[in-house]
Amino acid sequence: MGLADVRTPALLLDRAVVARNAAAMTARMARLGVRLRPHLKTAKCAQVAALATAGNFGGIAVSTLAEAAYFVEHGFNDITYAVAIVPAKLDEVLALQDRGARIAIATDDPATAAALAERAPAFATTLNVLIEIDCGQHRAGLAPEAETLPAIARILDAAPNLALEGVMTHAGHAYHCGDVTAIERVAEDERAAAVRAAERLRAAGHACPTVSAGSTPTAVFARSAEGLTEMRPGVYTLFDLQQMALGCCRLEDIAVSVLATVVGRYPERGRLLIDAGSLALSADTGANEFLAGAGYGWVMDGTAARRLDGATVVDVNQEHGFVEGAALPFDDLPVGARVRVLPNHACITAAMHDRYHVVEGGEAVDVWERAKGW
Ligand code: PLP
Repeated sequence: MGLADVRTPALLLDRAVVARNAAAMTARMARLGVRLRPHLKTAKCAQVAALATAGNFGGIAVSTLAEAAYFVEHGFNDITYAVAIVPAKLDEVLALQDRGARIAIATDDPATAAALAERAPAFATTLNVLIEIDCGQHRAGLAPEAETLPAIARILDAAPNLALEGVMTHAGHAYHCGDVTAIERVAEDERAAAVRAAERLRAAGHACPTVSAGSTPTAVFARSAEGLTEMRPGVYTLFDLQQMALGCCRLEDIAVSVLATVVGRYPERGRLLIDAGSLALSADTGANEFLAGAGYGWVMDGTAARRLDGATVVDVNQEHGFVEGAALPFDDLPVGARVRVLPNHACITAAMHDRYHVVEGGEAVDVWERAKGW
């Protein structure tokens, strides 16, 4: 199917750019001396996972059990489910382990650890557990000095069929850093928190083989990964305007865009309407924190090579995007013309779509499906 035949709105993915992003992060992690466990919450796609794990040890991270099941189905068998486990989800995890995969789970809750320990004697396989550490985002995790840290470790290590795999942390607050120096500082806080927690566990007699950290900004800018064993960035596979605003990538590293069609043309209002609204682009405006005028995405010409004179999606309804710009080239944009919108936040924009239309040399050459749901 040629690009002209792709029905809009549609999610386009530039395969060569993904491959380049993947190779660059692989090389960066090798330079830092840690394993790369790409987080597939962004791409949710086996073909992207294959590119991201090429030259790495093959492990991945996921954010939903639906992703975990999808990736097991596609042959990935070393998976960290990097959202806190609840006992009600345990049977699904065990069923995936029964299929030969190794699914590491995470907790920061002593009662959950006790519930796991109670059920563990009946497990057919060993379940690996990471203790989640808070390195400053204050979303989830224990402070590295928390008293409950060794207490959870004791519960896990005492139980049959449970293995305390180590610690994991994520510096989500790096997304609010105004410059590279601030990201470097957060990266160091992230590293230090994970390493300190691991040291405490080791001092208490726990092996703690895995010390896992990472976000895309901290993976891109960390000066040291000493004491870490792996990093788990995810957005870097696709990149987006937010990452560009943070300095993590260049415009030409953004691998995804939403192909849209002009459905209304209002020169008197200085506005175009496109058939990509909040359900095709998402309503995420995170990029605006450091990129004034990012709106709901930058509007590029149909090949995505060139931004249309400052054109931005300034507002969205469910299926309408409102495009404005300093000097929109209305003569080149009749109803039916096509544009591409670069996403603010690739994870959320991509989650609006079931599949990628893979683009190479300006043509649509393949369709890659995405994992959906929870
Ligand atoms: N690890 C965890 C626990 C996460 O929640 C995320 C993203 O939300 C990542 C890793 C990947 O980081 P990023 O999205 O910055 O690439």
